[in-house]
Amino acid sequence: QVGELARDKGVNVYCVGGFVRDILLHLPNFDVDFVVEGDAIAFARAMARTFGGRVREHRKFKTAVVVLESGEKIDVATARLEYYEYPAALPTVELSSIKMDLFRRDFTINALAVQVNPDQFGRLVDFFGGQKDIKNKTIRVLHSLSFVEDPTRIIRAIRFAQRFGFSIGGQTERLIKNAVELNIFHKLSGSRIFHEIRLMLAENKPVACLKEMARFNLLKAIHPMLTMDPAKQQILEEIEKVVAWYRLLYLEPSPCPWLVYLLGLCAGFNDAQVQVLVRRLNLTKKQACLLTSLRHSIRKAIEDLFRWEQGKQATSELFFILEPLALEGVLYLMARSRKESMRKHISLFLTQLRTQTIDITGKDLQALGIASGPIYGQILRAVTAAKLDNDSLSREEQLRMARE
Ligand code: ATP
Repeated sequence: QVGELARDKGVNVYCVGGFVRDILLHLPNFDVDFVVEGDAIAFARAMARTFGGRVREHRKFKTAVVVLESGEKIDVATARLEYYEYPAALPTVELSSIKMDLFRRDFTINALAVQVNPDQFGRLVDFFGGQKDIKNKTIRVLHSLSFVEDPTRIIRAIRFAQRFGFSIGGQTERLIKNAVELNIFHKLSGSRIFHEIRLMLAENKPVACLKEMARFNLLKAIHPMLTMDPAKQQILEEIEKVVAWYRLLYLEPSPCPWLVYLLGLCAGFNDAQVQVLVRRLNLTKKQACLLTSLRHSIRKAIEDLFRWEQGKQATSELFFILEPLALEGVLYLMARSRKESMRKHISLFLTQLRTQTIDITGKDLQALGIASGPIYGQILRAVTAAKLDNDSLSREEQLRMARE
């Protein structure tokens, strides 16, 4: 249908990037990006009119997002024409706009396009050997200045190589090493580094990526204390196992992986050293606050858990120790627990206790004629504790308890 619209509007339209790569890899990908050899914003408007939906326009970048009525989002971009300066004596190189657009991309495997116009439907556009590199399982840049142009591509190369089990091509690896030696990361903004690191930490095997980052001396380039010594590696591997375990449970909410891994990467740092990393990665106030406050509450929770293990071990006490922590903090604690028994208790909290709620609310207390105030919190906490410690406590029993 998009193809028919393209024909009607007289423009060439292509699917590009990760969508095409994943088709060739037989992997599911529902993130379709279109590139238009023409006015993407006008085409996006036509798509919204034809398929139903609205358009978010980014005039400056000549791109648009079509938000369909189902909530699905489709990116539509204008094929970017970047003119390169050539010495006057040389003839101007005429490139079609799709070729220019693909040329500015990161790797050959991501520089593929498939045309959707009906008369050319399904034509694979592969100017740089992306198909061959997919077959040979190789990550390769399109030209030798690629990493100088955009150093974040180094993190992307590592991420894609690990995700697909590809290797980084010999020349591309040499270019990474040269770029690192030229210190190109020092000039790069923290937000751009953090954006890519965050994507990397959301992958299934971030530790392998971090090891690759260390092999290329990239962790140190980001923060002098970021290392992958055996102790740190062990912590991160435990985190990876816990995050994978939690993912398999399909529980809500899902954690922010970057936060759990950053807690691990900062293990052994003092607060000032964490601040250096926070500034380097240009974390937002909210992100920085999450990280620093979580480090403090984890320290307190560890002490409390230790005391709890020595004491009577009431289930409710375990609940009240872990409940104030953000999910990422609980996962981190689980990963750092050396004792099997402690891991079991934290797992019990995550899988069962955390979601348990009592059957009465403040409204019930009001109906009982109890004057509102801090007493409400105390009563509800006492009822929660009673419910957690006595398997079946009916609503009536909870109300009776509240009255008493
Ligand atoms: P994922 O499956 O992780 O979403 P993706 O390839 O779709 O992978 P995006 O980050 O969404 O990755 O980028 C979309 C496309 O934009 C890529 O396929 C690539 O062609 C291009 N791209 C993204 N980042 C860069 C970059 N830093 N330099 C050049 N091209 C890039």
